[in-house]
Amino acid sequence: MSRPVVATLNLSALRNNLNIVRKAAPNSRVWSVVKANAYGHGLERIWSSLSETDGFALLNIEQAILLRERGWKGPILMLEGFFHADELALFDQYRLTTSLHSNWQVKALANARLKAPLDVYLKMNSGMNRLGFSPDRIHTIWQQLKGIANVGQLTLMAHFADAERSEGIVEPMKRVEQAAEGLGCPRSLANSAATLWHPEAHFDWVRPGIMLYGASPGGQWCDIATSGLQPVMTLQSEIIGVQNLKSGDVVGYGSRYRANAEHRIGIVACGYADGYPRIAPTGTPVRVDGVLTHTVGAISMDMLAVDLTPCPHTGIGSPVELWGNEVKVDDVAQSAGTVGYELLCALAPRVPVVTTS
Ligand SMILES: *Cc1c(COP(=O)(O)O)cnc(C)c1O
Repeated sequence: MSRPVVATLNLSALRNNLNIVRKAAPNSRVWSVVKANAYGHGLERIWSSLSETDGFALLNIEQAILLRERGWKGPILMLEGFFHADELALFDQYRLTTSLHSNWQVKALANARLKAPLDVYLKMNSGMNRLGFSPDRIHTIWQQLKGIANVGQLTLMAHFADAERSEGIVEPMKRVEQAAEGLGCPRSLANSAATLWHPEAHFDWVRPGIMLYGASPGGQWCDIATSGLQPVMTLQSEIIGVQNLKSGDVVGYGSRYRANAEHRIGIVACGYADGYPRIAPTGTPVRVDGVLTHTVGAISMDMLAVDLTPCPHTGIGSPVELWGNEVKVDDVAQSAGTVGYELLCALAPRVPVVTTS
């Protein structure tokens, strides 16, 4: 038998979550966001479960080419566009929709020799100040792009910094309105949070990422508990050791946990080298043989310790769910001071992955 840690991907949950996107945004087309190797799930493993989507959005040219080689014929949106002008030959060859967020990209596209025009997402800075042109420049650049033979269909794109808050898109939407005035342009604005909670931002194409994988854009499972979204990834392992602690005994590196009574702990074959967050403190939720308990002490590279007090029937070989259907990745992330996105993306290559349909 091999080391018991394993990640299971529930592909029917992925299909279910895409349906939830459709129900939430019935009049929009859907870019399924599969950047970061499909949020750690593995693009190659999961893309065909999302083949009912209207398009895929990502960042890496290698992953775009992989989709084409596996037979995806629909649109592919490169969220950050090309990083160097010489990539345009591949954009042309593989028919990729490019985002344009900087002047040098506009010039490079104008000067490229292409077989056919490329569809373009003109990226506007909605106030997040990451990528994009400021709203007052959109009109000029839009007209400029209209005159470039290499530019096919044009869409205005913006991204929200705070769409998980109820007032979070008010200011950015004003900026979009200002920029789009009189252009009559198709728009794509909504990430998962806006897809779920701001129908006024849906427009022509929504761009959900995290919700497809069944985690919350707001960082708390309770935000999506009634949405019908289902977690796709379950990270499981087993108890490989048991210790009976006396009062005053300590556990793990740095002796960060000290027992204040006699109790039993289990040692789980999963650590930060598997992608479990090292920073997770004592008290982070975990299930042992279906019973909710919590971690104790520091997370090691290959192991972590859990309190077995609530589950006296368990021992060596008992199954452990680190996150998944029962223990939400959002809850583990929240305990560790981060978001589910980071934990999913950080699943380590050494963890074997199996899929269920
Ligand atoms: C990552 C990303 C998304 C998806 O965001 P989620 O919060 O995962 O839904 C959408 N649009 C852009 C430009 C992105 O970079």
